[in-house]
Parts: sequence; structure tokens; C-alpha cells
Amino acid sequence: MRAACLYAADDLRIEDVVEPVILNERDVLLRVEMAGICGSDLHNFHTGQWISRSPSVPGHEFVATVLKTGAGVSALKVGDRVVADSRMPCLTCDKCRSGHGYLCSQMGFVGEVNDGGFAPLTVQAEQQLIRLPDQSVPSHIAVLAEPLAVALHAVNRLGTAVPKDVLVMGAGTIGALTAILLQHRGVRNIALFDTNQERQEIFCKALGLGIPGAGELQDNAFDACIDTTGSAGAFETSLSSVKRGGDLVVVGLYGSNITFDMNRIVEGGLRLSGCAAFDNELEEAVLLLAELAPKLACLTCRQISLEDVPSMYGELSSGTSAVQKALIRHDVI
Ligand SMILES: [Zn+2]
Ligand SMILES: [Zn+2]
Repeated sequence: MRAACLYAADDLRIEDVVEPVILNERDVLLRVEMAGICGSDLHNFHTGQWISRSPSVPGHEFVATVLKTGAGVSALKVGDRVVADSRMPCLTCDKCRSGHGYLCSQMGFVGEVNDGGFAPLTVQAEQQLIRLPDQSVPSHIAVLAEPLAVALHAVNRLGTAVPKDVLVMGAGTIGALTAILLQHRGVRNIALFDTNQERQEIFCKALGLGIPGAGELQDNAFDACIDTTGSAGAFETSLSSVKRGGDLVVVGLYGSNITFDMNRIVEGGLRLSGCAAFDNELEEAVLLLAELAPKLACLTCRQISLEDVPSMYGELSSGTSAVQKALIRHDVI
């Protein structure tokens, strides 16, 4: 079968590989319907930060159908549609043993520790898979479950009280999903900002949000900000936009160290939260898929073939693409 194989930083090849087989009794052989390209896939491609095996087949965001189960699999059967829990914690460190596996110091991910969904077939352990509660959710919606869990985790950092005014920095996948969840929670004023105006405008119009310009992001205008960008310049704006005593949640990955005025946090009494991946939000995200489907359909997605992945990496990395999520379809040659 054909697969995308990451050998090293800046070295991704589409090539023939041996089809995976069930090796353990808890393994499940899956036909991948659709797989999403994540910002972390691009980060790993550019930096090689998480290459623990070479080559490896990336792809931790996917929806798939069960083709075959190992003898010890009990909760899944042939034909079930599933999504993957991308996280592979070590299960032995202090955080894992105390029930906080999402903070595992040795956290690995599907598509890094093992081969993922950038191939038409993949084998995953049963505990890595969640059966879709609504089996009829279309692939292009179900494939968003994992990034939706990431956005849900970021939104949950704001606590249970719904803030009135929230700034979301970055209209990529996580920013867009964050805006959808805030709207779902009844936040009155959501400002979704991106320096990529085309991407921002298309999505804001589709979701029925106003389109804030840079000039409207005044100092101290928002109860909270969720910054999904990983950009030093954006963080500066995020920092100055939050009211005293407000929340600043950071969910982007940064390519290098950044500097900022720490006194904005100290004197402003801000709560600064970092978050990566998610805790127990994937189950909730999966349950929300059907209800949120009309809003999730507002994302600017592009369905591509496996052979298109290298050029799509280039387009997404340019920062100028209006595409929020590229989805690999394995039935498209
Ligand atoms: Zn992801
Ligand atoms: Zn651990």
C-alpha cells in the first residue's frame, strides 16, 4: 500500500510500504476513511522534534472502519467506525499513576510511537480507539473529533463561568473549533482574529461572527483570550487584550523562545494557562459531533489524496492558505 513516511525533518516521502498486520490480541486492523493534517504534523516535519522512529507514518487525527480484530478485543467489532485517541502516555510516571496521564512526562502520540493514519490501513490497540456513538456521522465531520477535544480542553481552562467577551487568536483549526465551542456555550461576544484575512473572513462569515480588524483589539477589552497561534506577535496582542484579572489560555506551539512583558501578567493579575492535547475531553467531543455538525461544516476543509500531502504541507506552512484543515481521503488516487 502507499503511505506517507516521515524519515527526518524536511524529509517526507510517499512510497510503498508493507501492509500492517495484527500482532497482539488487543490489536485492531482499520481501514482509514479520512485523516487530518494537524499543525503538530507540520511542526514535527519542520523541526523533527518528535521523530522517535524513522521512518514513521504520521496521522493521529483519523476516522476509520474496523476490518479485523485480535482475539482479545471485546468492545469493537468488524464494521464499527472509530476515531483514535491520539495520546500514548507511558502509564508508569507519577502523573500517569495519579490519574493525570494527559500531563505524562513521556507522552507519545499515534503516528509517532506507532504508525498512524496517513496510510489506507493502520493497526491500533483497542484502548486507543473510541467507537463513534452515532455511527452515521460523515467522515469529514468525525475526523475533527481529536482537534475538537484539543479546543474543548482549552475552553475548559476558562472554568465553568461563561465569560462575556472572548478573543480567539488564530483562525486555524483549533481557533475555529474554539470559536464554535464558545458560541455553543453562549459566549456573547467572540472576536476571532487572524493575520490571514482571507481565512478569517471566510470562516467568520460562515459561522455568523463579526470580522474584527487589528484596530478593534483594544487594550483590556476581553474577559479572556485563547491564543492558538504559537506566534510571538500574536501573544503580545493577546497579553494586552485581556482585562485585569482575566484568563489567557495558550494552546499554540512556538518555534522558538519569545520575550514579553511579565508585568502585564503580574500587575494585571492574569491567569496564564498552558495546554497541550486534552484530558478526558475526547469522549465529550465525540458526543458533540452530531450536534455541532452544521457548525463544523463551516470550516474551510480541502480533501486531498495521499500523493498531494507533500505539496499540502508546503501550502499550509506558508501561512497564507485559506484552508483550515486538509483531509486525506484514501479512496482518492
Ligand atoms: Zn492534532
Ligand atoms: Zn506517564
